[in-house]
Amino acid sequence: MKVALKTKAYAAQAPRAELTPFEIVRREPGPNEILIDIRYCGVCHSDVHQVKDEWNNGIFPMVPGHEITGIVTEIGDKVSKFRKGDKVGVGCIVDSCRTCGSCGEGLEQFCKNGFVGTYNGLGKDGIPTYGGYSTQIVVDENFVLRIPDALPLDGAAPLLCAGITTYSPLKHWNAGPGKNIAVVGMGGLGHMAVKIAHAMGANVTVLSQSLKKKADGERMGASGYYATSDPETFQKLANTFDLIINTISAPFDADQYLSLVRRDGTMVLVGAPPEALKTQAFSLIFKRRSFAGSLIGGIPETQEMLDFCAKHGLTADIETIPIKDINQAYERMLQGDVRYRFVIDIASLKQ
Ligand code: NAP
Ligand code: ZN
Ligand code: ZN
Repeated sequence: MKVALKTKAYAAQAPRAELTPFEIVRREPGPNEILIDIRYCGVCHSDVHQVKDEWNNGIFPMVPGHEITGIVTEIGDKVSKFRKGDKVGVGCIVDSCRTCGSCGEGLEQFCKNGFVGTYNGLGKDGIPTYGGYSTQIVVDENFVLRIPDALPLDGAAPLLCAGITTYSPLKHWNAGPGKNIAVVGMGGLGHMAVKIAHAMGANVTVLSQSLKKKADGERMGASGYYATSDPETFQKLANTFDLIINTISAPFDADQYLSLVRRDGTMVLVGAPPEALKTQAFSLIFKRRSFAGSLIGGIPETQEMLDFCAKHGLTADIETIPIKDINQAYERMLQGDVRYRFVIDIASLKQ
């Protein structure tokens, strides 16, 4: 196979550095691997945490990006699931041990031996992985997703992380008709949680810092929308929700939100603030509440989510940007100025 493996990318050279042009070299696709021409890459708040090294595990230079969509351009001899020209996606995981119990169940995100992240990971060859802020990527076919024809590549890109990260806990905790679900934080993850929970038939309420995005939330399927800046919100909604999907990216008062969970209900953290959260025992023991977490989703469930979104006509609400605007996009995301996901048009990196 003769392919040009020199690849244009954007990288942070050191923690907290701005992203700047960088050239990487992708490996020659192996027999089971696929070369993907990247068309779009979503910008996840995790990219911001990681570039700032807020989780203290950064490998630099870092090429972020784990909401990738594109077209298959080359396939290895043994590839059976994909052909050249197929519309495909890559999410947060590009490899795992494939032998542990979790991998056997399709829960690669909980691989006992550690999954290989799409970026800021170490491949089995010991080489750091580089993500989707780049023009092409080589991935084993078992970690590549099929993008259904009904979904456009730009609006589908954020499904690869924001979509699966909210679909998975909604499904695990049985979101559906008769269930009262609150989504905390109307950002990239939050707006997908609203759309997916509504499509699952649940009754959805948004808790946002203000009412600025109320009309959007209602359009996406929320029947209730409250500002957490209003102290009355917490009194009004006490003991209401079967499930809270909490997407807040910064430290917050967990007890305050737990008070909104009804008896035997659950608050699930999907947001990943770097700082520790404090919780009063009484927030949990009264009302037998659960405080849980959830991490992205495995490969089979990611495919299931994509098919679900195609069936229900769901994509992310996006603002497409050229790669040169990425640093400004990070700043805007930190200020909550995004409706509701930035997506990089990778054509801007190919020029
Ligand atoms: P995002 O688009 O920035 O959305 C986060 C939302 O949280 C904001 O829109 C804002 O909602 C709310 N928020 C932010 N700061 C807040 C504060 N101080 N107090 C109250 N609310 C606040 O980010 P995202 O891409 O959705 O990611 C959210 C978090 O999930 C990040 O920490 C990210 O790393 C994490 N994440 C986790 C997983 C996982 O597998 N568990 C996967 C992907 C991302 P309002 O404007 O509505 O108030
Ligand atoms: Zn993400
Ligand atoms: Zn495993």
